[in-house]
Amino acid sequence: MLLLLDSKLVVEQISARWKVRDAKLAPYRDEAHALLVRFSQWSARHVPREQNGRADALANEALDRALIGGPAWVTRRPEPAVSSGTKSAAAADSAALLHESASARAATRVTFMGCGASRGVPRVGCRCAVCLSRDLRNHRTRSAALVEWSDAASGAARAIVIDPGMDLRDQALRFGVDRLDGALVTHIHVDHTGGIDELRAYTDAQDEVLLLGAGPGTAAELRQRWEYAVDGRTAPGHGIPALRIEVAEPTLQIAGRPFEAIPIVHGKREAHGWRSGAFAYLTDVASVTAASRARLQGLDLLVVSALRDLPHPTHQTVDEALELIAALAPARAVLTHLDHDLDYEELAGRLPANVFAAFDGLVVAVPSR
Ligand SMILES: [Zn+2]
Ligand SMILES: [Zn+2]
Ligand SMILES: [Zn+2]
Repeated sequence: MLLLLDSKLVVEQISARWKVRDAKLAPYRDEAHALLVRFSQWSARHVPREQNGRADALANEALDRALIGGPAWVTRRPEPAVSSGTKSAAAADSAALLHESASARAATRVTFMGCGASRGVPRVGCRCAVCLSRDLRNHRTRSAALVEWSDAASGAARAIVIDPGMDLRDQALRFGVDRLDGALVTHIHVDHTGGIDELRAYTDAQDEVLLLGAGPGTAAELRQRWEYAVDGRTAPGHGIPALRIEVAEPTLQIAGRPFEAIPIVHGKREAHGWRSGAFAYLTDVASVTAASRARLQGLDLLVVSALRDLPHPTHQTVDEALELIAALAPARAVLTHLDHDLDYEELAGRLPANVFAAFDGLVVAVPSR
C-alpha cells in the first residue's frame, strides 16, 4: 500500500525515521502502525498539498459523509499511473525484497501472527528499553504463524496455524482467522501449545473434528495432556475442542498439501520444524543436524528462531541463526521467536540483505514451485 501524505512530518514519523516528540501524537502513530502492519508492504510518500488535490477531495468527501451519519471513509481503486508509481517506490525499499519473488503465482501466504519468545514482549513488569518501546514492532505475542493457500483444484481457501500458542485467541481476532483446516505443533512447550483449547472456536463453528499434526513424541504428549479433546468421545460443539491427532512420519497431508516434520535440536524434548514446498518454519532451534539440513535445501523462505545475542542452552543466538541461514542458503529468511533483548530497528539494521526481522503482522508471500 502507498500512502500519499501532504505532511512531511507525518511521513517521516510514520516511517520511524523521525521520532514523535509530542506525547499527544504518539497514540495516533501507534494506531497507524497497528493498521499498517496488516498490509504485506507499505510505504509513505510526501506530496505537497497543491499536488494532492484528489486526496484532499476524498478526505473532504469522507468528512461530509461522516457528518451526515455515514461511514467515515471513501474507497477508490488506484489509477494505473498510481500503481506503477507504487512499484518503483517499493523497489527502492529493501523490505520489497521480501515480496519481489511473490507474483500472481504466489501460492502461499505466511502471516507472522506472533514472533515473541515464551514470555512475549513486553514482559510483564519489565522496564527495559525494548519492553518500554513505543515501536509496535517491539510488541511481540507468542510465536505463531498462519499459512494460507488456495486449493489447486477447487480454488477453495485453505488455512492452518503453526503453533496454537498462548496468544491464539487474540491473534485470531487481530488477523481475522475465521476458519482453519488444521494446526501443526512444533514441540510441546506451552508457548507453542497453550492455545489448543481455543481451537474449539473452529471445531464449533465448522462442526468438524480438526487435525492437529505433530511429530511422534510430541503427539504422545499431546494425547496425554489434551486427552479430553482427542479421545473422540465428544462431538464438535460441546464446549471442548474436537481434535484428531495426526503423526507426521515424516510427512502428513492437510487438505491435500504435504507438510514434512523435520527434527531439530531444542532441549531435552522432541522438536520439529515444518517444511511445505519452498517454505520452512523452524522455531526454538538450538541446532540443526546434518541430516535435517539436507532436507532444508532449495528453500524460497526459511523462518528460523533467534532468541537474543547472548548464548542460551536451548536457543540459538542471532549470529548462530545467521550461520544456519548462510549454510542452508534460502532465497530469503525471517528471524522469529525474538526476546526483549532485541530491538526491532537495531536488529533489522544489522541483518544481511536477504534476512529480515519478524514483527507481529508481517506477511510474506511464497511463490509455488
Ligand atoms: Zn518457544
Ligand atoms: Zn524487557
Ligand atoms: Zn520451546
